Amino acid sequence: MWLNTHYQALNEQYLFSQIARRVGQYKEQNPSARVISLGIGDVTRPLVPAVVEALNRGVEEMSKAETFHGYGPEQGYPFLREAIVEYYERRGVALDLDEVFVSDGAKSDLGNILDLFHQENIALIPDPVYPVYVDTNLMAGRTIHYIKAVKENDFLPLPDWDVSCDLVYLCSPNNPTGAAYSKSALTEWVRYTIEKGAVLLYDAAYESFIQEDGVPHSIYEIPEANTCAIEFCSFSKMAGFTGLRCSWTVVPKGLRFGGMGLNSMWLRRQTTKFNGVPYIVQRAAQAVFSPEGLEQVEATLSYYRENAATIQQALEQAGIYYTGGKNSPYIWMECPGAMDSWQFFQQLLEQAQVVGTPGAGFGENGKGFFRLTAFGSHEDTKEAAERLEKLLLQWKERG
Ligand SMILES: *Cc1c(COP(=O)(O)O)cnc(C)c1O
Repeated sequence: MWLNTHYQALNEQYLFSQIARRVGQYKEQNPSARVISLGIGDVTRPLVPAVVEALNRGVEEMSKAETFHGYGPEQGYPFLREAIVEYYERRGVALDLDEVFVSDGAKSDLGNILDLFHQENIALIPDPVYPVYVDTNLMAGRTIHYIKAVKENDFLPLPDWDVSCDLVYLCSPNNPTGAAYSKSALTEWVRYTIEKGAVLLYDAAYESFIQEDGVPHSIYEIPEANTCAIEFCSFSKMAGFTGLRCSWTVVPKGLRFGGMGLNSMWLRRQTTKFNGVPYIVQRAAQAVFSPEGLEQVEATLSYYRENAATIQQALEQAGIYYTGGKNSPYIWMECPGAMDSWQFFQQLLEQAQVVGTPGAGFGENGKGFFRLTAFGSHEDTKEAAERLEKLLLQWKERG
C-alpha cells in the first residue's frame, strides 16, 4: 500500500489559524478593546427574498409524491442551465445548454477538473494567488511555474511568451488583489494559451462585482476563448450561496485535443463521480436570475460596494497604493513604511484594533501587501476605515 506522498509537498494551512491565534492573544491581554475585522473572507448578508421563496416552494414540491424529485441530471436541471445561458446571452456570449455544468462549488470544480489532465502537465499560476490552484496541482504532483503579480504590473501580469505551460490559471476580478483584467489583456492571454496549445482555467467567481465598462465579465467575451478556456463561476459571492452551495462551470465543445473533447470528458467525469446539486438549491439559484432576484442581489452587492468605497477613500486620504475595490470586494494595500505584511498586521491590531489578512498568506509577492475585505457591516467598516486612516496619517506625519 502506498500513499499519495505529494501531500507532503503542501504547505501548512497556517494563515487563518495564525490570525485567529494573534487576535485571541491580543483580546486576552486587552479585554475591553473593540476589535473589528476587515479580514472577513465570506459573505455576511442574508439570502434575498426571491431565493428564500424559491427554496420554500422547492420544499413544498419535495413533500408531495406528484412533485417529488429524486436523482436529477448530474450536470444540472435544464431550467437552471437555461437561466445561466440567458445570463451569458445578455453579454453577447452564446453558449449551448450542454456546455454548462451546474455544480456544488467553483472550488470543487477547480480541483476536480484536474481529473481530465495528465500529471505531466505544467501549471502556470499567478503569485499571489487563491491557494486552491496551487494545492490541487501539488496534490497531483504537478510542476508549477509562477508568474509574478507585483506593483510594477499593477498585479495584472501578462504572459511571458518564452515560458511554455499546459494549464493557465487566471482569476479576474482577483482574490486576493481585487485587480481585474481589461479586454486587451485577456485577449493577449487567450492568444498565448492557444499558441502554447494550453488550456486556460478562468475563475470568474467575482464577475458580479465588476462596475467598470470594458472589464469583461466572462472570458468568452474574448474571441476564440471558446477553443481554449474553461470558465468557473459561482452563486457564492454573487448571491450569498456560500452556505447553500451552487456554482457552474462552462466547458465549450470547441476544446479538443488529440481527438478527445473536454466537454464530453467532463460530462463523463461528472456523471461518474458527482450526484448533482439538490433540486431545491437549483430552484433557489434559478430565482437569482428572475427580475426580482437580480434586483435584490444587486442591492446586496451595492451594500458591499459601499464598504469597498469607504475603505478606498481611507487609503486615498492616507496616500497609500492599493488595487481592487472598484470591481471587487477585496482591497489590496501596500504596507506602509516598508513593513512586511505580518508586521503591519500586528501594528494595525495593536494600534487600531483592526484585523486584516497578511498578503504573505497568498504567496511570495504578497509579502509587502495586505488584504482588506468589504464583507463587513457598514457600521464596522466605517469605524475600521476611520481608525485605519488615522493611524496611517499619524505614521506619515512622524515619517
Ligand atoms: C469564493 C471563491 C470561489 C467560489 O467558491 P465556491 O466553491 O463556489 O464557494 C472561487 N474562486 C475564488 C477565487 C474565490 O475566492
